[in-house]
Amino acid sequence: MKLRNSNSDIFVPDGSATAAALARTTHLSIAAHQDDIEIMAYHGVAECFGRSDRWFSGVVVTNGAGSPRAGIYAGCSDEDMQKIRVQEQRKAAYVGDYSCQLQLGYTSAEAKDQANAAIRGELAAIFAACHPEMVYLHNLADKHDTHIGVALHCLAALRSLPYAERPKKVYGCEVWRDLDWLPEQHKHGLPVFERSNIAAALVGVFDSQVSGGKRYDLATAGRRLANATYSSSHATDVESALTFAMDLTPLLTDLTLTPVEYVLKFIDEFRADVAGRLSRWKA
Ligand SMILES: [Zn+2]
Repeated sequence: MKLRNSNSDIFVPDGSATAAALARTTHLSIAAHQDDIEIMAYHGVAECFGRSDRWFSGVVVTNGAGSPRAGIYAGCSDEDMQKIRVQEQRKAAYVGDYSCQLQLGYTSAEAKDQANAAIRGELAAIFAACHPEMVYLHNLADKHDTHIGVALHCLAALRSLPYAERPKKVYGCEVWRDLDWLPEQHKHGLPVFERSNIAAALVGVFDSQVSGGKRYDLATAGRRLANATYSSSHATDVESALTFAMDLTPLLTDLTLTPVEYVLKFIDEFRADVAGRLSRWKA
């Protein structure tokens, strides 16, 4: 695997050849920024941690430019910050026992541009090299434009693969906007209670962000606990930590379905649910 950008980065924590590290991947997450994977796809990391029959790999599409900075990072140039963020992502890959960590080094503008054939082609090549069973992407109702841009590139790349080579399951996960609102029949609660020490470390290694004033470490753990407790009002907590996900797999089986139609169907159901409850007891 040769990546296109000169600032791209390939890291294989156990030192295996890149091709072998990609080929053994069973669980793959592709995200916009450094730390998104650790916030949204810990389920995949935990499923593979310490096993020889399952491997997790991560792909970060953008270069980390424009990250907020404070404290010891306040004086860092944009170029310094990009290097720091690449290193932080490598630390996470090491802590999480990832098979392979790719950082593609695109700008946010490139990631958002749906006409950018280079990104799309590179993502299709990564999917083909990894052949994952499970894929974790940004969800389609996320409120960060770069997340949406990357998710759409990924879905287009997946839809371009021969049918037999598409993954069994594609989840859209939570970062900027949670998925509590998703109608129950469409909401997948992925258990993420295993190895809370590793889960905490994975978000904690992104010191430039956490010390920079955004407590993603606390917020991510808090969201997972809240999801577990508030997932059902009548039952006791079955899972002690959950990540909610939107199933994106139907977009790979029905190519006539557009991503916008797909997600609006969930919003329509949510709207009908709220309206139905309120109108049941109207005066
Ligand atoms: Zn992000």
